[in-house]
Amino acid sequence: MRILKIKILCGIFYSSLLVFGASAAHAQNNANECINPDLLKYALSQYQFEDVDGSGNVTKTYSEMDVCDQGIFKVALQGIDYLRKMPNGKIPANFQTLISKEGGINFLKKRIKKIQIDSAEDSDCGESTAARVFFHEAAEGIMHLCPTMKNSSPIEAAGFLVHEARHIDGFAHVKCEHGILMSTEGAACDNTYQEQGSYGISLGFQFQVYLTTKNEAVKEESRSNIILSSLNNFNKAPLGLQKGGVFLDEDNILGFYEGTQEYRLAEFTDKTIGLTLHGGLPTVIFEDGNVTKYDFTREWILNGGTLIDSLKGMSASTRADIQDIYANKDNCFLFKNELKCLDGDGFLTYRFDTLKPVAFSDRYQSWNNPLSILMDNGAVYSMPEPKNFATTRDADLKVDSKATTYAGITSFAEMQNGSIMGISNKGFMMVKKSKDAKWIRAKEFGDFKMKKIIPFYWSKRLEDL
Ligand SMILES: [Zn+2]
Repeated sequence: MRILKIKILCGIFYSSLLVFGASAAHAQNNANECINPDLLKYALSQYQFEDVDGSGNVTKTYSEMDVCDQGIFKVALQGIDYLRKMPNGKIPANFQTLISKEGGINFLKKRIKKIQIDSAEDSDCGESTAARVFFHEAAEGIMHLCPTMKNSSPIEAAGFLVHEARHIDGFAHVKCEHGILMSTEGAACDNTYQEQGSYGISLGFQFQVYLTTKNEAVKEESRSNIILSSLNNFNKAPLGLQKGGVFLDEDNILGFYEGTQEYRLAEFTDKTIGLTLHGGLPTVIFEDGNVTKYDFTREWILNGGTLIDSLKGMSASTRADIQDIYANKDNCFLFKNELKCLDGDGFLTYRFDTLKPVAFSDRYQSWNNPLSILMDNGAVYSMPEPKNFATTRDADLKVDSKATTYAGITSFAEMQNGSIMGISNKGFMMVKKSKDAKWIRAKEFGDFKMKKIIPFYWSKRLEDL
């Protein structure tokens, strides 16, 4: 038995799972095609590829017979091919990393000898891990690929490969202090980009691709990877990102505030009903049922997908009654006395009998987090899974005693300077200047009424990339 109780040096989080279907512009997927024989020959000459079962036993060794493989082996080879052909053009010095210096394929070759593919039936990877490396196998240069990796595009696969390869040098992760991976069990962040651990290397790889590729789809994909990684994988955020909050006010203005300065991101002419994070990006919902996402551009492209279909399916007056939106593994809408979560084409509804819900309380809408709701009594309650809504009553709900709450504050975010901005239940922007300070009205926001503030990191530099 090998897998259980063994310290994992790394598992890389598969961020694409959180991308809206419509915006995942995956380049060159070559569905159903066989592997290029030259690529196959090359890859087999450089690495040993094996299938392993849940106990670590080798169940298959790959050979030239596997030229028409349609599984993870093919995906890995597409990643290797990407690294082989990756443009090595010179990029600005401040974006250069070991990857630009060594070249993608040499970086991988120097560190990895054997690539093991975990069997889909009994892998313990979990659905959020794409690949990993174990401490005790580092000297042998062994990398493991997880079943989830099957859905990766070539550029994603290439990014996973160099990320894992960096772990062979002894770089491990630390627990995330912010972002969509904060609630993930175990370590899923690096402290800084500058230390050039595994996330630093994979981000460096994305910079190299973004700044050199001539392929527009690849460029767009690498930009989106740069944004998600910068926001979520480093406890000290890179690229000048400032800690603060993104807020939506009653006049349909979307802004970012870091404690001293307000940056206006949009002034919508259409009436908005709410703001949420989806896959780590601020997402605005309009009264007409449209949804747009802030992707560090000012293009405000309308999203598609099931969440939007369900909004469009509601009457205008129902949409106007939505108090808050949750867009994660479950997509849910909070009303005055009800919580509705999408279930196929319909909804599963929880009816509050004594409690009065105010807002969803998971501030980062972290990956895989259970639903929790702030009630007007100031406590956060953990909600059951939607399938159990019908058999649960308010009296059955448990208070989440670990959730941070402030009396009379419906949403809040910590700022770069350590103060906390929050929205009062009357809709005013409030500030708590230090840990022991009282909440007071934030004068700089005057009498403007706010809908919501969400913790977020922002910089003009990332927007200008
Ligand atoms: Zn890792």
